Amino acid sequence: MGTKDTSTMDNNNSKPNIAFIGLGNMGAPMAENLLKAGYELSVFDLSETATKRLKQAGASVAESPKDAASNAQVVISMLPAGQHVHSVYLGDSGSDGLLAELPKGTLVIDSSTIAAADARTVAEAASKLGIDFLDAPVSGGTGGAVAGSLTFIVGGDAAAFAKAEPILAVMGKNIFHAGDHGAGQVAKICNNMLLGILMAGTAEAINLGVKNGLDPKVLSDIMLQSSGRNWTLEVYNPYPQVMENVPSSNGYQGGFMSKLMQKDLNLAMQTAQDTEVETPMGAKATELYASHTVENGDKDFSSIIGRHDVSLLS
Ligand code: NAD
Repeated sequence: MGTKDTSTMDNNNSKPNIAFIGLGNMGAPMAENLLKAGYELSVFDLSETATKRLKQAGASVAESPKDAASNAQVVISMLPAGQHVHSVYLGDSGSDGLLAELPKGTLVIDSSTIAAADARTVAEAASKLGIDFLDAPVSGGTGGAVAGSLTFIVGGDAAAFAKAEPILAVMGKNIFHAGDHGAGQVAKICNNMLLGILMAGTAEAINLGVKNGLDPKVLSDIMLQSSGRNWTLEVYNPYPQVMENVPSSNGYQGGFMSKLMQKDLNLAMQTAQDTEVETPMGAKATELYASHTVENGDKDFSSIIGRHDVSLLS
């Protein structure tokens, strides 16, 4: 742990050096966009395949989160779930993770989708060390990550948000300050609960049409111009070959894994239970994804359509 003040965030090209941790389906394209915008990146992931891609794109590959952050004024993470975020920043004992190694004034942006309570725990630990922490989960899928058009939903204090905004603007188009620590995560799980409901419902509607003789593309085009229109029909159709460049036309590989959708639905249900709010549609989507994930956890979440016709998954 150091006491050096890095708040000016300047290096030779007046852009802060960034450590990027977690280079999966989302993190890799986000990091690539930062490189393209001229940021110097030091990256870390447990998977060598993931780091290889970023090395080819011009990042320097680190051996550990601490190594990645050794010359960085900003740390960004894009990890699967709360346990990974906890382990990277707080370590096993709660105080022997990356936070303990960062200089005062470092800006930490966690874009993973995790429980608001977990985000607040890390934010509190960071604050005690003079480190700014923002929860900044995203929406927009892997397509948005590649295009640099993600929506960032940020929780944390206004000064840290102002520092983060130009960096987030490289990876995203819409950047919202949702409120204090944890607010970004609450907004994100509300959104993803609705997305789980919409995807399960869209899959169900297309299947009903197909089983009654309709062409899935014709039906999708009709619903797109009718009152059933929604994001899944616009950019993420679950039926194979209706749309190009989406997971359903690629064997449900890549994209947003069903097990991650199930994690988000569980977070929404936990929040609803803790705050005594009724979410019957969310509960149904959670039940559907829980059973689907048993066999299809690594497939994209649009594969939920396979509940109706398993041959679509092969
Ligand atoms: P992913 O599983 O593809 O990638 C996660 C990466 O983190 C992997 O490369 C893994 O090796 C790495 N990792 C795990 N533990 C680590 C550790 N301790 N240190 C370093 N690296 C570690 O997941 P993803 O789809 O990129 O999603 C990341 C987060 O973004 C999740 O919280 C997810 O819910 C959220 N999200 C995903 C999407 C999407 O469309 N995929 C959209 C919005 C939000």
